[in-house]
Amino acid sequence: MGIVSCIKGQHGIALSRGWDRMYWAVDLHSTLILPNYEKMKAEDVVYYPDSVETMRLLSGRSDTRLIMYTCSWPAEIDEYQKRFATDGIHFDWVGENPEVNHTEYGDYSKKPYFNVLLDDKAGFDPHTDWEKIFRVITGLPLLQKVYGRVVRVGD
Ligand SMILES: [Mg+2]
Repeated sequence: MGIVSCIKGQHGIALSRGWDRMYWAVDLHSTLILPNYEKMKAEDVVYYPDSVETMRLLSGRSDTRLIMYTCSWPAEIDEYQKRFATDGIHFDWVGENPEVNHTEYGDYSKKPYFNVLLDDKAGFDPHTDWEKIFRVITGLPLLQKVYGRVVRVGD
């Protein structure tokens, strides 16, 4: 299944279950930015085409939470966060999803809960998939609170 089918499918599930948000886990190297084997410098960050625009859209959606899913060291993560912020990209958490610890069906203490995973190691193509994602998410209606109550994953 391609990334667009995955996103549409998860969004459909969220709508049908009355969830008000979706969680996206996003890898950095070879997914959002070019791999860099030197010590990280903010000015060396090079994004893949359409990734900034897409991540800005996701950062601005009230129904989306972004999880940075990376093996970078904490000091580098701090630098990345600052650089991303200047580019309008805001991750909610790093390597965790504190909003969902467990559900009736799953224990998320060792694997953070997410609905969508963008990771080159999971088949994401950084050269072509960002544009596809940009197009699909602009057509997805915002998830909303249902009947005035916040519905969380697992409710
Ligand atoms: Mg990677």
